[in-house]
Amino acid sequence: MNKPKLLVSSCLLGIDVKYDGGNNKIEGLEKLGDIFNIFPICPEVEGGMVVPRLPSEIVSTSPLKVQNEFEIDVTDYFKYGAIGAMNICKDNDIKIALLKSNSPSCGNIKIYDGTFTGNLIDGIGITANTLQHNKIKVFNENQIEELYNYIQTNKEI
Ligand code: SF4
Repeated sequence: MNKPKLLVSSCLLGIDVKYDGGNNKIEGLEKLGDIFNIFPICPEVEGGMVVPRLPSEIVSTSPLKVQNEFEIDVTDYFKYGAIGAMNICKDNDIKIALLKSNSPSCGNIKIYDGTFTGNLIDGIGITANTLQHNKIKVFNENQIEELYNYIQTNKEI
């Protein structure tokens, strides 16, 4: 039987793509490979940003604007990253994603509020938003149970 395909934030797998040059490794997450065919991505690197880089936050949703902490507009990198992630999903027929929470790219429920003070607000990262608009189901690393339940009840994925 073919394994379901899963797009995963690279940093959750221990790949050093985070803005500070580190990662957000979740111990044991590699076991997902027993169940899923994993497609790692860091949308910010995919969009052309380097490692390390300055942290960025969404400062406006309408119009969409992302700035780094020196107030440089980096919106286009985030848009390119979202397009890249979407293309990987389209090219590989991926219907589900496991993305890092709270990120301006990957967060699916909360994001930082644009003040660089660590304050979280309800919101969605640019890649997570793009994927969801294209009917890709997005989970974060705190929703792995939900992810397992989802594939049990959606066997066609
Ligand atoms: Fe991780 Fe996503 Fe940030 Fe890349 S953009 S470091 S994958 S949270």
